[in-house]
Amino acid sequence: MPKTNLEVMLISIPDNLLDVIYTACRTCYSPDGAVDIYENITDDNEKKLNLIKRVISSGHYSTIEHIQITFAINNISRAATHQLVRHRHMSFSQKSQRYVKEKGEFDFIVPSAIEAKKDLYEKFLLHMDEVAKLYQEFVENGIKSEDARAILPNATASSMVVSLNLRELIHLANLRLCTRAQLEIRLVVKKMCALVEEKEPWLKEHLVPKCERLGYCDEDKSCGRMKTKNG
Ligand SMILES: Cc1cc2nc3c(=O)[nH]c(=O)nc-3n(C[C@H](O)[C@H](O)[C@H](O)COP(=O)(O)OP(=O)(O)OC[C@H]3O[C@@H](n4cnc5c(N)ncnc54)[C@H](O)[C@@H]3O)c2cc1C
Repeated sequence: MPKTNLEVMLISIPDNLLDVIYTACRTCYSPDGAVDIYENITDDNEKKLNLIKRVISSGHYSTIEHIQITFAINNISRAATHQLVRHRHMSFSQKSQRYVKEKGEFDFIVPSAIEAKKDLYEKFLLHMDEVAKLYQEFVENGIKSEDARAILPNATASSMVVSLNLRELIHLANLRLCTRAQLEIRLVVKKMCALVEEKEPWLKEHLVPKCERLGYCDEDKSCGRMKTKNG
């Protein structure tokens, strides 16, 4: 049975990311026009970062909304994509279960907790096998894939192109890197952040679970990383 592994690729991020954010920041506080500010930018990245960090820490987040980032994601479960699409400032294009017929042996994601228990893992594989056969039977008997998909599991593998701006990426990281988030989406977001940090290492301190941003855990019960507000 085809069981698959997550793939995340960063397919677009501006090369002049610092220049764009710097121009946005300076435009707010300078008598010069935005065009002049952009045209006169130097290679002094330290100067740009000093201003950008000050502006971000003061909560002036519109300046980082100008940075659009796009990822291609393969082999993510429908359970995880359902959680991702709850984020309303992201754009998505996802493999359709109406237009694309799952093959007899459809791809699926196995949660590591199930894979770790041999007897349950075997039952899981057996169930996927039965679902695949039934799906195939429905399709062969004229049921459209938009209806046959009703029996496909949350584990069914999907594929999507995801775009979001830098402000939303930070928000996504704050929520989904928290240990309260489900493991698969945590891994997806971790990979997205790691790819961005490779290009822009200064973002590491922002692409963190929310407790690191707040300085305390705002959940009812802490995982131990940070104390809750009331200790
Ligand atoms: C650990 C965890 C458990 C969860 N459990 C559940 C669950 O059991 N059931 C469930 O249904 N969901 C659950 N969710 C999803 C959660 O409720 C949010 O829908 C999801 O995390 C998107 O977050 P968001 O609304 O902050 O982000 P986005 O949609 O990405 O929006 C970013 C920010 O924009 C602002 N914003 C966006 N839209 C509006 C609006 N219409 N009005 C005002 N401000 C807006 C808000 O400040 C928001 O924080 C869970 C999420 C997490 C991380």
